[in-house]
Amino acid sequence: MTASTARSQPPAAAPQDVLTRGLAAGGQVRAIAARTTALTEEARRRHGLSPTATAALGRALTAVAMMGALLKGDERVMLQILGEGPLGHVVAEGDARGRVRGYVSHPDAHLPLNENGKLDVGGAVGGGQLVVIRDLGLREPYRGAVPLVSGEIAEDLAHYFTRSEQIPSAVALGVLVGADGQVLAAGGLLLQLMPGHTEELADVLTTRLSTVPPVTQLVQQGLTPAELLQKVLQDLGLDVLAEYPLTFACSCSKDRLAKALIALGKSELDELAGQPEGAELICRFCSTRYTFSPAELRQLRDSARQL
Ligand code: ZN
Repeated sequence: MTASTARSQPPAAAPQDVLTRGLAAGGQVRAIAARTTALTEEARRRHGLSPTATAALGRALTAVAMMGALLKGDERVMLQILGEGPLGHVVAEGDARGRVRGYVSHPDAHLPLNENGKLDVGGAVGGGQLVVIRDLGLREPYRGAVPLVSGEIAEDLAHYFTRSEQIPSAVALGVLVGADGQVLAAGGLLLQLMPGHTEELADVLTTRLSTVPPVTQLVQQGLTPAELLQKVLQDLGLDVLAEYPLTFACSCSKDRLAKALIALGKSELDELAGQPEGAELICRFCSTRYTFSPAELRQLRDSARQL
C-alpha cells in the first residue's frame, strides 16, 4: 500500500442503522433488510475485535436484528454459533425494538484471507452447531439447533430456517472491513417464503438473488434497506410494514452485577472485599467495566447475610 492510498471514511459519517420489514408478491414473501454499519463498528470498538472477529460478530448481530423483526413486545432472540474454530463461540442477542448485543469468545483470533480474498469467517468459526433460542415470555424458551454447514453464518442460518423451522429462506449477511480495521459497511437481507407460495416464485427469487451484488457493496453505495429490498424484489411489489432504527445496546448495569455478586454468597464476598483493589467485573456482551470497592463489597456481603 502506498501513502497516496485513500484512507477509509470514518464511521462517524455512517448514517443511522435501520431495518425495513415488509411483504412482497401479495404476501407470499416476507422481506427484511438491515443496515448495521454503525452497530458493527461499535461492537468492534467495545470488544477490540480482529477483522475476522468483526466480520463474524457483525454478521451474527445483523442476523439477530432481522430475527428480532419477527418478534413482538418484550420477546428476545439469541443466536449462538458454537464453532470449534479459533474464534470460539459467536453469540448475539436481539429484540423487537432493534436493540442488539453480542460477543465472540476469542476477539483477537484472526485468519489470513481465504482464497476469494475475503475474511475467512467460515475457517475461523469452524465446524459445530448453530443454536437459536427464542424467549417468548413462556415458561420455557424455544430452542432449535442445526449443525453448521459452512460457518459463514448466512448459509448456516438459511439452513436452520429451512430445516428446523420449515420456512424456505434466503439469508445474506455482509461486513466490509477497511484496511485500518474499521467497519466500512455492514448489512443483511432475509427473504422467507410464506405458506401457499408458488414454486415459480421460489425460482424467481433464487434467480434474482444470484444476480444482486453483495449486500456490503449496496450498503456502501448508500442504498437504504428499503432500496436494497426493491433491488431484489423489483416487480414483485414491496409493502413496507415497519421501519425502525437499530442500535448496539446492552441491558447490563451495576445493580444487575451487584445481584450476581450477592448470589456468590458471603464467604466469596468476604474474600473479594479483602482485596485492596476491590473487584472488577466486565460485561461479556458489551465489555463495560464495573468496579466494586472493598466498602461496596462489604455492603453486598451484609445484604447477602440478610437473605
Ligand atoms: Zn453489558
